Amino acid sequence: DQLLIHVSRVLKHVVRHDDLVGRLSGDEFIVIIRTSHRDDASQLASRISAEIRQPLKVAGSEFSHTVSIGISFAQLGDSPSTLLENADMAMYQAKALGRGRHSTFHSTMRLQAQQRISLEEALGIAVQNGEIKPYLQPIFRLDDKTLTGFEALVRWQHPQLGLLMPAAFLKQAEDSGLIQEIDMCVFASACAAITMWQQIHGLGNLRLSSNLSARSLADPRVKVRIKEILESTGINPASVYLEITETTLVDDIKSTTATINALRDLGLRLAIDDFGTGYSSLLYLKRFPVGVLKIDRSFVSGLGKNPEDEVIATTILTLAKALELEVVAEGVENEHQLDRMRELGCDYGQGYWFGHPISIESTEVAFIEPLRLAPLTP
Ligand code: C2E
Ligand code: CA
Ligand code: CA
Repeated sequence: DQLLIHVSRVLKHVVRHDDLVGRLSGDEFIVIIRTSHRDDASQLASRISAEIRQPLKVAGSEFSHTVSIGISFAQLGDSPSTLLENADMAMYQAKALGRGRHSTFHSTMRLQAQQRISLEEALGIAVQNGEIKPYLQPIFRLDDKTLTGFEALVRWQHPQLGLLMPAAFLKQAEDSGLIQEIDMCVFASACAAITMWQQIHGLGNLRLSSNLSARSLADPRVKVRIKEILESTGINPASVYLEITETTLVDDIKSTTATINALRDLGLRLAIDDFGTGYSSLLYLKRFPVGVLKIDRSFVSGLGKNPEDEVIATTILTLAKALELEVVAEGVENEHQLDRMRELGCDYGQGYWFGHPISIESTEVAFIEPLRLAPLTP
């Protein structure tokens, strides 16, 4: 509420007294100005962005925020709703450019919006048709190089376009709300495979890590679905980690706490993804059932090149030891990074050095069959 009040004050302050400021819905505002120069609008947008970016003190802590702004100019004959729709499309574009940006409507945006809708439709059908599947990337212990488990990463096997990576469709999945379907679909298929492999002698503790988006976590129905998947596959919940980014945990603590507690009651634990890139509040590490920190690839890739990355990796490892958390180094691409992470005391590694994400069938051939032939001692 305080942020909304702050934003409305900023908006009223930057416009002229005969301009119009309103709140459209939740966190959406609108400013209508009369102007004879197109540049006026983008200058105003820059000013609004700069003012809102200033840190805001709420309950003793400082927060900073960004806005995304879409600009549209009324053409003769435009209805108010067309003007709003156009501004909305421009805002979408601004969001796509990153945080705190503004963008001006252009007629090609209508076409792009239509294409987006067709991607969303196709994605909905893909979920139904089983075109969404997990690829698995192995995670190894660094000291004795034994396989400990896999991270499930979504792929879309598109009938015409071939194999699509998450970057090609996850944003649309988030925006359209299909992300929960996708997360659950990936989790269910991966659980089924891991459960099957856990029956093999020596692989009883094989772990599964599956990604959960902020949007999935914020939906109270997700815990019911996860419970159903655990029950129907019979996987041991203690071998399952749900990967969540720091931002997800900290941004919306109110709506996610109940869900996370319910997940803990199911026996699941969290892994903090991309650790070190998000918030610096570490309170959640104690408050939530976190078992693993995943050191972001950006720090691992800097090992031996960038002293700061080494400091950050060391600090994360010290923190993890103190809190009795396990650490996975992400994006290990060469032997040097592997050795360095092991020297620093990191427990686990994941990355192209150990293996790329591959299909369940290929994983079976590449990683599981060899262990079946030469079983590990448990
Ligand atoms: P992430 O969870 O941080 O996953 C690691 C990403 O790094 C994966 O990209 C993986 O293929 C890539 N990677 C692994 N090892 C290396 C390496 O040695 N070098 C380099 N350069 N890259 C490496 P991918 O599969 O494209 O996934 C991208 C992101 O999409 C994931 O990042 C995750 O945030 C998201 N994602 C993937 N699957 C799911 C899912 O089922 N649900 C949700 N909500 N998000 C997912
Ligand atoms: Ca992940
Ligand atoms: Ca990651």
